[in-house]
Amino acid sequence: MIVEAQAVGKEYALGKQTVTALRNISLSIHKGEFMALAGPSGSGKSTLLNLIGCIDTPTTGTILIGGQNISGKTPDELADLRLNTLGFVFQTFNLLPVLSAWENVEYPLLQQPKVAKKTRQERVQHYLKVVGLEPYAHHRPNELSGGQRQRVAIARALATRPSIVLADEPTANLDHKTGEGILRLMKDLNQEEGTTFIFSTHDARVMEMADRVIELADGQIME
Ligand code: ADP
Ligand code: ADP
Repeated sequence: MIVEAQAVGKEYALGKQTVTALRNISLSIHKGEFMALAGPSGSGKSTLLNLIGCIDTPTTGTILIGGQNISGKTPDELADLRLNTLGFVFQTFNLLPVLSAWENVEYPLLQQPKVAKKTRQERVQHYLKVVGLEPYAHHRPNELSGGQRQRVAIARALATRPSIVLADEPTANLDHKTGEGILRLMKDLNQEEGTTFIFSTHDARVMEMADRVIELADGQIME
């Protein structure tokens, strides 16, 4: 199992109130899966992705990434895991606006001092090509369409060769046809490179492309 959640619960403090975002979630994800998280707004999809992505920590229960319990890890070890094992794709793309497509894809590789300049350049070129954006390498995000921006974000997520890509509503800000193209690209990468993808979505039509759909409601998995 590449990801395991064991009886995971998550509560947020909201002033004096407590919001329960996840209740008793247990889930095993195989290496190479292309898995969708479905469910209405507020059902806990982002929270679960953030916990698997080591962006936040569970209130109760255990999360294992590649068999390792992440709650025993130091902040440095978690940062290392985020950089080397995990890739992130967001609904709002989260590209750096002053950087070109090339520079956005290169950015996480610059945080990996072990990756030599030549390798870095080859990787950027490779992934821009894979997402079909080689001709737009020198364009900034505001010179690209929504679909193109998301493709830059996918190239950026893949450039560090993560074993798991987490995508939170990656198609939510795209029209249906463009969104479907983005999902197809992710699926091709899943099949060609064996990368595990876990994505959340509202769109029943893109959900159909998943190997497995886990449906959340009110912080719980629906059977
Ligand atoms: P989804 O991604 O399915 O829309 P979320 O994981 O964003 O669901 O939210 C699950 C629940 O947790 C909701 O009730 C939401 O309001 C609450 N929540 C999410 N993030 C926070 C936060 N940072 N502080 C307080 N409550 C939060
Ligand atoms: P996609 O299907 O990937 O969303 P589109 O078909 O919408 O792409 O866009 C095609 C062309 O229009 C591209 O050459 C892109 O650079 C250009 N384009 C789209 N939106 C914008 C924008 N807001 N500013 C500049 N160029 C844009």
